[in-house]
Amino acid sequence: LASWVGFSNLPNQVHRKSVRRGFQFVAMVVGESGLGKSTLINTLFETRLYQPKAIPQPGQDRGKTVQIESISAEIEENNVRLKLTVVDTPGFGDFVNNDECWKPIVDNIEARFDAYLEQENRVNRNKLVDNRVHACIYFIQPTGHSLKPIDVEFMRRLHTKVNLIPVIAKADTLTDEEVALFKERILNDVAHHNIRIFRPPQYENEDEETVQENEEIMSKVPFAVVGSDSIVRTNDGREVRGRAYPWGAIEVDNEAHCDFVKLRQMLVRTHMEELREHTNDVLYEDYRSEKLRGMGV
Ligand code: GDP
Ligand code: MG
Repeated sequence: LASWVGFSNLPNQVHRKSVRRGFQFVAMVVGESGLGKSTLINTLFETRLYQPKAIPQPGQDRGKTVQIESISAEIEENNVRLKLTVVDTPGFGDFVNNDECWKPIVDNIEARFDAYLEQENRVNRNKLVDNRVHACIYFIQPTGHSLKPIDVEFMRRLHTKVNLIPVIAKADTLTDEEVALFKERILNDVAHHNIRIFRPPQYENEDEETVQENEEIMSKVPFAVVGSDSIVRTNDGREVRGRAYPWGAIEVDNEAHCDFVKLRQMLVRTHMEELREHTNDVLYEDYRSEKLRGMGV
């Protein structure tokens, strides 16, 4: 299933580390059907990793559990090859009873930890394949109200296992004021329920430019995103990735229109390495020591 994708502007620093370590990045997307997960992945990686799928008809069997599907692409930039895997979770929140729909997702994340642990325990440890989930993009329905019980439950079950990156789905369906208010409410809910969402570490010796760049990114969380597979024309005649409305176009890559650019910047440019490090040093390490304790080691 591998395809070749051009990856723009990965910083040199990431390249050097990547070349040394053999670079793998796994991103998971979670959220109810129709919130634009597949579209956003295609938008993020400038490709059609996902082909449009037939929508199940009433009566057609949708299955009874959350499915876990993973798709990989080789990405090339400056002659460096990166392996990107996207883990999709269709079915989340789609059932009459969604009480345990976080469970297959936790199981999947833990199975990936186990696979890594098993490799670490081998005598020959060079060339570890890292299929652990480094980031989980969680799609929040653009209701404008607050988090739903299923959102809170999912994030509370997952926040010690994976870097959570909440996004407001289909932000073009809300006005700017609604987005601002919704973000505030979501952050209040997150704080109220003690949910840990991903925050990059603060380094002491960072230059002012980097500090400011990080602050700008974090000020947008939860990112209000718009995805699109198609090119539309703006009122002033430009052709852009976006969504067409009678009064004009919502531009995916315009920071005045949505936070897509900032999300992408965080994931694949500024914080990819931190996401990988936090996964390894904290999330995986906690899982590993818990597991060893359980085995009486
Ligand atoms: P998924 O089920 O979460 O994977 O959702 P899809 O990516 O398949 O998208 C479901 C529908 O929503 C499709 O008709 C998309 O064109 C549409 N869609 C996707 N992203 C957006 C968005 O940002 N805004 C709007 N208004 N529609 C979107
Ligand atoms: Mg989908």
